[in-house]
Amino acid sequence: MTKFNVLILGNASASPTLTRNQTSQLINIGEQYYLMDCGEGTQIRLREHKVKIQRINHIFISHLHGDHYLGLIGLIQTMHLLGRTSELTIYCPGDIKQIVDVHLKISESHLKYPIVYKTVNSENSELVYENDKIEVISIPLKHRIACSGYLFKEKQKPRRINPKALKTFEVPKYQINKIKLGEDYIAENGEIIKNMRLTLDSLPSFSYAFCSDTKYLESIIPIIKGVDLLYHESTFADEHADRARKTYHSTAKQAAEIALKSEAKKLIIGHFSNRYADLNVLLTEAKTVFENTEIATQGNTFEVSFSQ
Ligand SMILES: [Zn+2]
Ligand SMILES: [Zn+2]
Repeated sequence: MTKFNVLILGNASASPTLTRNQTSQLINIGEQYYLMDCGEGTQIRLREHKVKIQRINHIFISHLHGDHYLGLIGLIQTMHLLGRTSELTIYCPGDIKQIVDVHLKISESHLKYPIVYKTVNSENSELVYENDKIEVISIPLKHRIACSGYLFKEKQKPRRINPKALKTFEVPKYQINKIKLGEDYIAENGEIIKNMRLTLDSLPSFSYAFCSDTKYLESIIPIIKGVDLLYHESTFADEHADRARKTYHSTAKQAAEIALKSEAKKLIIGHFSNRYADLNVLLTEAKTVFENTEIATQGNTFEVSFSQ
């Protein structure tokens, strides 16, 4: 099974506290690292978890409120100081390039590595990034400024070699790669052995949706339908629903409604207002709607592959 998990580096909204950093998560898919948001203090949390920061090649920023990107310049600088030369790609619906450029210009810094900026469409869902294993799709959100969530989806995996069948049909070793690629095998006597008979079903593909700051928004449901693990912001408890509406945020109950309606397998909630010392208030409210909910506790790793 390919590793697919999410490490929570921060779960606070607005300002950091002594125990809660601002939003950031590290997504590990088969030892490829993707950083999701980069609130203040993110690089310290990465160090705490012994993450090799030069292995981060893609950073996804949901929006340009400070609690989601104020750690970025520090991280960019550390990567430079540690001798990075490989390209870094930053995805964001707002003009993050302008912010980084101003900093580099005024501090007269010249990075040893290139940064590529990709502007994310926060109006329509689109493919933001893909490689041979995954695709990342934007999730347009409704916040006070342009804001996007991101859906990480594993692509359909190839069928697996069936060693027993290879033995039965006496398939020579040099043919195995072709069979892995889906080809049939032609035996010496000319008999065609179908690929299906030589392989086993592929392993299931998993998905993770990161839904950052947003008001309650049902238009995201078709995009994230059936997602294995859903992170949804839950800034407020139900008693502050009015405040949530005014500030374009969600309550824990609303996050759970989205999880229920999108048939997510599991929900994790985060981006908590500092007014809640005890986060169980939010968890209990979410669970009344969607039982399989957990708090995105800072330092916890959530497995996506086994989230059922
Ligand atoms: Zn925020
Ligand atoms: Zn915000």
